[in-house]
Amino acid sequence: MSERIPPERFGLRPVAPAHVRELEGLLGMAAVLSGPDRLEAFASDETEKLRFPPDVAVLPSSAEEVAAVLRLAARELLPVVPRAAGTGLSGGALPVCGGIVLAVDRLDRIRAIDERDLVAEAEAGVVLADLQQAVEARGLFYPPDPASRETCRIGGNLAEDSAGPRSCKYGSTRRWVLGVEAVLADGSRLVAGGRSRKDATGYNLTQLLVGSEGTLAVITAATLRLIAKPKATLTAVLPFPTLAAAAGAVERIFVEGLDPAACELAERAALDAVARLEPLPPALAESAAMLVVELDGDDGDELLARAERLDALARSLGGGDALVADDAAGQRRLWQVRRRIGEAVKSLSVYKEADTVVPRSRLVELVEAARAAAARQGLTALLYGHAGDGNLHVNLLQRSRSARSRSSARSSAPSIRRASSTPARSFRTEPGPPRRRAQPAKSCTSRAMRSAMSRRGLSSGWRTIR
Ligand SMILES: Cc1cc2nc3c(=O)[nH]c(=O)nc-3n(C[C@H](O)[C@H](O)[C@H](O)COP(=O)(O)OP(=O)(O)OC[C@H]3O[C@@H](n4cnc5c(N)ncnc54)[C@H](O)[C@@H]3O)c2cc1C
Repeated sequence: MSERIPPERFGLRPVAPAHVRELEGLLGMAAVLSGPDRLEAFASDETEKLRFPPDVAVLPSSAEEVAAVLRLAARELLPVVPRAAGTGLSGGALPVCGGIVLAVDRLDRIRAIDERDLVAEAEAGVVLADLQQAVEARGLFYPPDPASRETCRIGGNLAEDSAGPRSCKYGSTRRWVLGVEAVLADGSRLVAGGRSRKDATGYNLTQLLVGSEGTLAVITAATLRLIAKPKATLTAVLPFPTLAAAAGAVERIFVEGLDPAACELAERAALDAVARLEPLPPALAESAAMLVVELDGDDGDELLARAERLDALARSLGGGDALVADDAAGQRRLWQVRRRIGEAVKSLSVYKEADTVVPRSRLVELVEAARAAAARQGLTALLYGHAGDGNLHVNLLQRSRSARSRSSARSSAPSIRRASSTPARSFRTEPGPPRRRAQPAKSCTSRAMRSAMSRRGLSSGWRTIR
């Protein structure tokens, strides 16, 4: 178990048995979980090796019940951490000072899919893949596609502003949110935005809540924008002789108007890691790096013409024969290599990941800076990720599991960020609100905003209380 931060440090108090009884009175016994066994599932998310059991977990089934929990917490100064599916990688759902975990699992209704207004209204606990399936059954499309989509929930997606391979064309979750329903830390209800496309009155509170990681309010439902589902898709895998050539091709693909729906990069070491799990396509046997590019649209012939231009571009940069598929099974096979990289890399050796973002024009510099910074610490940097968004995961591989090796992996992660941010000037790790070391004016404004909306920071995840 990780060491709990005393809630008193933030002017908050621990949960007492009387609070648990009051919660049971408000929500019913079945919706209030206590005791170590039942709380284990709420003690961690997908952030590495951290475990903070809460004092109690609650599963409200309506916005009214969420409001009742938050009113009690505000009155008694109890810490509250909202939780959706717990797939977050940045510790936001960890109850670091105990308190109440407010899980949105039972807010799981898709209230509407409107084919005229092209919107969906979904509660915060709806699983993303379920929403996408329901929407696609009507010929519509909700593009955000974090790799965790089979399990993560709409509330967590909004709170993290989740992105995925398709965000290079369609943007992250933020771009798809027209309105939110939320409950503030004092229990008051907030409805912002809605079905209308234009909403220029007052501050844009909808977008303020997107990406706020549970620090401002508990989101209970969202109105999401939909589009018609593209009628055709095509996937191409492009092998390259060097990592720099693959990174350099990314910028050109966009500048030449090839308009990819996804553009993912992986270098040789990542491909080798996957090869330990399953055979690679022969075209990737010798290449130093690959790009996986997805094209979409309504006209299959037009996609094939674009794929030819893609192939010509890759060849002009020294690339080999492209692998192309426009049928569902073939595309699944081509994506398989990219999809298994995360799992494959994790099994390689103990590692530390620096999640980096740069403008696309600086990808080559990022690749070179990351490799140089890792080499200085005697480590290997393995790179892959959402190159179309300029977002690469730099994985630092240790040669052994010794304490010395672990510590050099830990210490070189910041140096990779520094080294890479020098040329790129824009670098961040996990998604989320500004950190302490952000510009003072920005931190001050964020703090003021938070205290205006959540007073004592009752609706608080990891970031709120750091
Ligand atoms: C295998 C894997 C792949 C992933 N791939 C991607 C990816 O491609 N792109 C990407 O962006 N992320 C990715 N992630 C990270 C994560 O899945 C996403 O950020 C996801 O959106 C989190 O959703 P969740 O439902 O699990 O939220 P949780 O982890 O439960 O919560 C995340 C944050 O949201 C807050 N929160 C949750 N619900 C609410 C609510 N109702 N109101 C207010 N705040 C709330 C929590 O307090 C916490 O701060 C991945 C994670 C894994 C494990």
